[in-house]
Amino acid sequence: MSENKIPYKIYLEESEMPKAWYNVRADMKNKPAPLLNPGTHEPMTAEELGGVFCADLVAQELDNDNAYIEIPEEIREFYKMYRPSPLVRAYCLEEKLGTPAKIYYKFEGNNTSGSHKLNSAIAQAYYAKKQGLKGVTTETGAGQWGTALSMACSYFGLDCKVYMVKVSYEQKPFRREVMRVYGASVTPSPSMETEIGKKINAEHPGTTGSLGCAISEAVEVAVKNPGYRYVLGSVLNQVLLHQSVIGLETKAALDKYGIKPDMIIGCAGGGSNLGGLISPFMGEKLRGEADYEIIAVEPASCPSFTRGVYAYDFADTGMVCPLAKMYTLGSDFIPSANHAGGLRYHGMSPILSQLYDDGLMKAVSVEQTKVFEAAEQFARVEGILPAPESSHAIRVAIDEALKCKETGEEKTIVFGLTGTGYFDMVAYEKFHDGKMDDYIPTDEELEKYRAKLPKVD
Ligand SMILES: *Cc1c(COP(=O)(O)O)cnc(C)c1O
Repeated sequence: MSENKIPYKIYLEESEMPKAWYNVRADMKNKPAPLLNPGTHEPMTAEELGGVFCADLVAQELDNDNAYIEIPEEIREFYKMYRPSPLVRAYCLEEKLGTPAKIYYKFEGNNTSGSHKLNSAIAQAYYAKKQGLKGVTTETGAGQWGTALSMACSYFGLDCKVYMVKVSYEQKPFRREVMRVYGASVTPSPSMETEIGKKINAEHPGTTGSLGCAISEAVEVAVKNPGYRYVLGSVLNQVLLHQSVIGLETKAALDKYGIKPDMIIGCAGGGSNLGGLISPFMGEKLRGEADYEIIAVEPASCPSFTRGVYAYDFADTGMVCPLAKMYTLGSDFIPSANHAGGLRYHGMSPILSQLYDDGLMKAVSVEQTKVFEAAEQFARVEGILPAPESSHAIRVAIDEALKCKETGEEKTIVFGLTGTGYFDMVAYEKFHDGKMDDYIPTDEELEKYRAKLPKVD
């Protein structure tokens, strides 16, 4: 088949869309380490987890064995409203770079929340509704997760309480308003409404908050209010499971044209989009059916994979959540205030952490000014203004394509374009005005946080 036959956008018919999520844990020889009770250090039981999370989601969280889990009909119907997301051949970018590489990206920004987060938000809201709950609580940093969850909750008629990191609440009023369009309540965190919020405010007067702190508040509110559960937008096994829809669609679209990628690249904050994108490909790799080079890209200012340690750590600042074994910088770690590119969580998905530790994938870190340079280069030829988070993947995809230009290799590169950047114009402004710098934490700083990791044997 001639090259030209591959269209700019590869779509799937409704009948070709995935009917089940793929659970990569089923094919992993070394399973991700279990969540531990923060008090006893024993593995969390379904019963214990059920106090915080919805019942069906607990089952998914603990399921290391079933490779396929059916996507309920209601969720598949909702997916059809904004999926399949396009797999785009970046012909214009290839041309501009003058590379022999073939570049594809899977674009997840085609919904109001502007990112892939809706894929899991709708699933989590569905299971909460099915259980007869009144509502859910959550945290949000930049606001994409809060937006996605608000949208999903309004669809199923659930109450949604969002604790939004204070600095974002103040700097991103538009995101906050989008959440309110969907009827969510949005509270800046740390607030004075929770015990943990009061404690953090007393210990750090004037603090502008962090994700870890907002998580603690949201969990406290869920546990104290009957009929409420807590939901999380990344990191957890269940979230990677839902996000596998990204990878399954990508693989189905590539298979339609007989395309086999050499390299799969994605940005990594808590690891959910990357985990979802690579899942079916990693499955083939784990079963020995195919090989792919898989690269996680993270910010140099929050380098969980490349400079963190693989250890049990707290998922939140208030230390109320279960302990997770993951690549982590320590739960007190907060990236420099100058860091504008997102992906600021201190830890990483336990599934991806195990795969990385087993040498099945690589990780690289990139500096934010280089990320924004790549974002602009991309925006100018591909007709999408990318989110700063997504642009981490763009940076490395471009770098790899330029390496191909040197060597003449015609590699096929697939990367995840997780979302749009229209709410990130303050970050773009900083970049344009030369006010963005590339702060990289020193070894001494990282050691300070590392020293506070919980002792688990
Ligand atoms: C949340 C988010 C990310 C990072 O989260 P992961 O769980 O690592 O996928 C990346 N891109 C966008 C646009 C996001 O909203």
